Amino acid sequence: MNNSVDVVIIGAGVIGLATGRELARKGVDTLILDGEPVFGSWTSSRNSEVIHAGLYYESQSLKARTCVRGRDLLYAFCNARGVPHRQCGKLVVAVNDAQVQELEQLSRLAHANGADSRLIDIQELRRLEPAVRAAGALFSPNTGIIDSHAYMQALLGEAETYGARLVCRTQVTRIRQSGQGWNVSIAGETEPVVHASWVINSAGLFAQNVSRTVEGMSEQHIPRLRLAKGSYCTYAGRTPFGRLIYPLPEHGGLGVHLTFDMGGQARFGPDVKWVDSIDYSIDLADPSRFTEAVRRWWPEVNADHMSPGYAGVRPKLSGPGESAVDFKIATPAQHGVARFVALYGVESPGLTASMAIAEIVAKEVGDAS
Ligand SMILES: Cc1cc2nc3c(=O)[nH]c(=O)nc-3n(C[C@H](O)[C@H](O)[C@H](O)COP(=O)(O)OP(=O)(O)OC[C@H]3O[C@@H](n4cnc5c(N)ncnc54)[C@H](O)[C@@H]3O)c2cc1C
Repeated sequence: MNNSVDVVIIGAGVIGLATGRELARKGVDTLILDGEPVFGSWTSSRNSEVIHAGLYYESQSLKARTCVRGRDLLYAFCNARGVPHRQCGKLVVAVNDAQVQELEQLSRLAHANGADSRLIDIQELRRLEPAVRAAGALFSPNTGIIDSHAYMQALLGEAETYGARLVCRTQVTRIRQSGQGWNVSIAGETEPVVHASWVINSAGLFAQNVSRTVEGMSEQHIPRLRLAKGSYCTYAGRTPFGRLIYPLPEHGGLGVHLTFDMGGQARFGPDVKWVDSIDYSIDLADPSRFTEAVRRWWPEVNADHMSPGYAGVRPKLSGPGESAVDFKIATPAQHGVARFVALYGVESPGLTASMAIAEIVAKEVGDAS
């Protein structure tokens, strides 16, 4: 084998691409491998495409810190690179007085996290979004929407400009220690195809599986994966909203909310269904439960306009009834395996946080090299 690089990144979702760009910018010779024919084929193409402001996450958690930092980096990157996006703002609505108190708690958390937001009363809500019926709302001006595919394309373009390479249709099967680094094997080849000083595992829903192929990795350092499917409905015709509209968050997700893509197509979702395996079939023969959820704050919603959209699966580290668990960036100090970093549980707000996560990973590689 005469192929040798500084870093192999496994996975060309938004996290692997952002990390590849960050490393390449720092002059690190980086190779990104992905098993699919094109980058971003899994979770990075199956989400709400919302730039989150950072309202919801436990203070000082990685989710809170990387969301706020990542949001700022993301807006700056989109503006500099012409990535289609819109800082449209969002409203989290309370449908009764008890929920107004929950909104107040959420507002305190948002401020602690550094996410601008303010509580608004019914009069202001009517002025901003006349079609919404609610007892109050939290207005988040920093929330936005993004064309996630254009973002990934721009990340890849910049990574390649700095010398990184992406090879698709390359399923990593084994990672074995060799000298000061790793020999990486792929499906269809008997011998390792590349030697890397560092390996970054950003395989999303498959990160746990990939870590199990790493020589010297103990199972006790691989967190258990739990899967929560989220389905979306698309909405035919116009909706009267200028901002994203969210209910209060529910266990496992942010509640069935209204978002739209850059083309203006409205969609509602995602719901939360705990599943045992990854399955993207849309189980929405009867979308009435979506209509009911939306009718609580938009009485005029028309059930006939709802149709099955798409689904994504959240790679979670906690299950039903358990408290939410933070992103996990597992470094050599934690798992004891030198020159290997694994990213687990990168569910929402991973798209928003991608460049901030990339900074942390690149610093780990840079500090130790
Ligand atoms: C329903 C839903 C809604 C969401 N909404 C939002 C949102 O609005 N805003 C937000 O900020 N975040 C959101 N997220 C989170 C966001 O989508 C994810 O955090 C992000 O896409 C994760 O990217 P990733 O690169 O870690 O994973 P992925 O995109 O899954 O990429 C992993 C890659 O690894 C590759 N791979 C796996 N195994 C191997 C192997 N052995 N060899 C080679 N390649 C391999 C796969 O092919 C894949 O391309 C949402 C997530 C879900 C599920």
